[in-house]
Amino acid sequence: MITPDPNYHMLGRPLDPELGWQSRCHPLAGYLPASGTAPVYVKREDELSANVSGSKHRKYLSLLPDLEHSGIRHVILTGSAHSNNVLDLARLLKQRGYGISALLKAPGNGFLRGNFLLLNMLLEPDSIHLLNLDQWNRVETIGTRMVDTLQQQGVAARSLPEGGYSPAVLPGILTLTGDLQRNMAQLKTRFQDIWTDSGSGVSAIGLLLGLRLAGITDCTVHVTLIAGDETEFRQRYQQLERWLEQLTGTPLPAGSPRLRLLKPASAASYGSVNRTILDQSWLIARETGLLMDPVYSVKHFYTVKRQMEAEPPQGPQLVLYNGSTLGLCGFQEALASRRGVV
Ligand SMILES: *Cc1c(COP(=O)(O)O)cnc(C)c1O
Repeated sequence: MITPDPNYHMLGRPLDPELGWQSRCHPLAGYLPASGTAPVYVKREDELSANVSGSKHRKYLSLLPDLEHSGIRHVILTGSAHSNNVLDLARLLKQRGYGISALLKAPGNGFLRGNFLLLNMLLEPDSIHLLNLDQWNRVETIGTRMVDTLQQQGVAARSLPEGGYSPAVLPGILTLTGDLQRNMAQLKTRFQDIWTDSGSGVSAIGLLLGLRLAGITDCTVHVTLIAGDETEFRQRYQQLERWLEQLTGTPLPAGSPRLRLLKPASAASYGSVNRTILDQSWLIARETGLLMDPVYSVKHFYTVKRQMEAEPPQGPQLVLYNGSTLGLCGFQEALASRRGVV
């Protein structure tokens, strides 16, 4: 049902015409245990854009046209001080002339490093609002109030939830399945297992929904839960199923790939990085040539490695690299000293 067509959309509007939606798949050189019958491929979501970390890009394919169509001129971004979503959207929206305010969970320390440094370079100081825990618990209300104030001044504004969690990202994230079908046709292979990681869960759920729509159900999707837990993931899955059914106006096919949710094999608490993860960052770079962000991608790849060692895979494997090299810039000192960050 899904065709790898850049105009494929469900909101009645095309995807962003300036942003690409195709990423390549190639054999992973080293690190994960590959065999003749179980070759291991990596999907280079990191290459989708120089501006945005892999998985976020697909969300923006439909989010940006939605903002433009709604006449929005000012966007209020919400997230942690080191959020990839806030930084990536700030870059793209700034480049397109939008006004931006950021409502950030105040960082543990105020050091300008990593994503927080880059965000400060992009935005005026008075556009960045650091919220204490009490304010953070009311962040949606604060965002709504800012939208009201801007509207009263004649500026069309919208507040975006953390991680881009909204129906507007659905058509964008569904492009992953069409792109995978394109990769499989080119490689003349069919993946038995697909390994991806999850923060808000939106991207991984988009993959599952896309596979269901396309009738691809004879595979297993393994999801490393970098943030959030199993209950949260399953709740969001149900919510996105409802949103998608509303968009398409038809019930979803019941058939689904198998789903397996995995805890990170090390440094399980979100944002933490330990000696193991730092060592693995070095190892992955040496063995595969990929310089990966430790918080998501290295943890994900290390988890996949441990799983594959415990249970040798059968059939072609696909691991999604959803992150970016830029994501490691906040960890330079830790990577150099190999001392962990909590
Ligand atoms: C945001 C992000 C993810 C997870 O995406 P969600 O849609 O929030 O689950 C994975 N990897 C990286 C590098 C990310 O920035």
